[in-house]
Amino acid sequence: MDDEWPDTGIVRNSVRCGRCGDEIESEHKHDFKMCSCGAVGVDGGKSYLRRIGRGWIDTSIVEPVTTRYPGKTGY
Ligand SMILES: [Zn+2]
Repeated sequence: MDDEWPDTGIVRNSVRCGRCGDEIESEHKHDFKMCSCGAVGVDGGKSYLRRIGRGWIDTSIVEPVTTRYPGKTGY
């Protein structure tokens, strides 16, 4: 809990490299992954979407937070 960010709605934090075709996913906040050719990377897990490099295709899934709290429109 300590330094976790508030609910971001991030379900999956991943990109596909346009060069080597690898799909990489950051599963935790400090889980930094790079593709096999080293062109792109992801970081941030469920806390934030961080992309390194160029030529990636976003394959992540982010839910609008409001859809996960039916009946609420905000905080
Ligand atoms: Zn690559």
